[in-house]
Amino acid sequence: MTVRVRIAPSPTGNLHIGTARTAVFNWLFARHHGGQFILRIEDTDLERSRPEFTENILEGLAWLGMTWDEGPFYQSQRLDLYRQAIHSLLDQGLAYRCYCTPDELDEMRAKQKARGDAPRYDNRHRHLTPEQEAAFLAEGRQPVIRFKIDDDREIAWTDLVRGTVTWKGRDLGGDMVIARAASQDDIGQPLYNLVVVLDDIDMGITHVIRGEDHIGNTPKQILLYEALGATVPEFGHTPLILNQAGAKLSKRDGVTSISDFQAMGYTAEALVNYMTLLGWSPPDATQEQFLLAEAAQQFSFDRVNKAGAKFDWDKLNWLNSQYLHAMPSEDLVQGLVPYWQQAGYAVDLAGDRPWLEQVATLVGQSLVRLSDATDMTRYLFDADLPHDEEAIAQLQQAGVADLLAAVQTLLAEQTVPLTEDSAKDIVKQATKAAGVKKGLVMRSLRAALTCAMHGPDLIQSWVLLHAKGVDQARLTAALGIAQAG
Ligand code: GLU
Repeated sequence: MTVRVRIAPSPTGNLHIGTARTAVFNWLFARHHGGQFILRIEDTDLERSRPEFTENILEGLAWLGMTWDEGPFYQSQRLDLYRQAIHSLLDQGLAYRCYCTPDELDEMRAKQKARGDAPRYDNRHRHLTPEQEAAFLAEGRQPVIRFKIDDDREIAWTDLVRGTVTWKGRDLGGDMVIARAASQDDIGQPLYNLVVVLDDIDMGITHVIRGEDHIGNTPKQILLYEALGATVPEFGHTPLILNQAGAKLSKRDGVTSISDFQAMGYTAEALVNYMTLLGWSPPDATQEQFLLAEAAQQFSFDRVNKAGAKFDWDKLNWLNSQYLHAMPSEDLVQGLVPYWQQAGYAVDLAGDRPWLEQVATLVGQSLVRLSDATDMTRYLFDADLPHDEEAIAQLQQAGVADLLAAVQTLLAEQTVPLTEDSAKDIVKQATKAAGVKKGLVMRSLRAALTCAMHGPDLIQSWVLLHAKGVDQARLTAALGIAQAG
């Protein structure tokens, strides 16, 4: 049997971390077994589905490296299949039209509640006569289609994650709606539980791997598989991603969509690595950093936890920094360019690559996220950056004006491009010429050249500033501040 799995996001929002993590588990499982990973966009909810969310989902999956072998398939283009199936279920007497109004359903539930019963549909329209149906239609009621659920059935499956799961038919809320009322045709709008089953059958899905929040849908879907005469696939329900308080991670927790993580400066490799660890652990549990291909080799559901997985920012940050610190500067620079551009820095990757790579090397080891580089390197890109307050206070100390003047003179005498060695040499000579203490020299030069008291290596920064012709102007400005002090 060839493993065929799918990810089936609804384009009612940006690609959510939970969906992405489910995609990762499906992908790993497919790759482990040499199977297929299929992408299906579940866009039957016409009011809430939007093309920009579909775009975001496709981009996000591609960015993460979740390459799909088939699709994307769009449910909105497959309505004929669903309609045919509904007709067939109606014809076989496995489904029927229910004409209850929302008010009637509310009243039914209110009574059940008053009796202390769980709310459910009481199957009251299961056996309507053609005359009763005609009368409801004459009233202008629009029916929904319900699939019959036998209260006495017991439904069980062996979940890949949770082991044996058993449900009673009577706990499924009564006959379920498989198509919503709609005036444009006699079938209405087919709903999730039905269409997901029809598609999974049609696409030959062998393993349905999805979030635990769908576990209550599975018994209903198994009944539909049976009614449709299809083989029931395997099911695996993956643990939810939880926030620090142990509740399901939601929009209220802030960042939840993959594009947000990307904008914050996480790399796809680190994020995918981290998501893999959200609920799964490799056979060597001490191994926290791995590539997708490695995880695919080792992936199995035996090592997927039942318990929810707490989202841990510290671990994600740590992993991200590991990836960034190990990244060759030519890749790092590629990663940094979008963030620099976003910050408004003029970046010319084609014309300026060597300089940009040196900048990347300079800050690379200090980065936790790619976006950290924008503030860290502002002094290199923004020639008009003013000196900050701390820098001004430093520049106004005694002896600094003489020092800076000496540095300027020595720098003007420089006939070849400044190197780290020649920069160090200038520092040495200027220290002697101005007769000041060495500690004061480095602090003052940092203040003068980088406009701040803290930052990346000073000498390397100076060489980079010099290459851009910014160091003389900074020294002149700093000298002005020093003399005014
Ligand atoms: N469209 C559903 C979702 O986004 C898919 C659930 C499933 O995998 O069956 O949650």
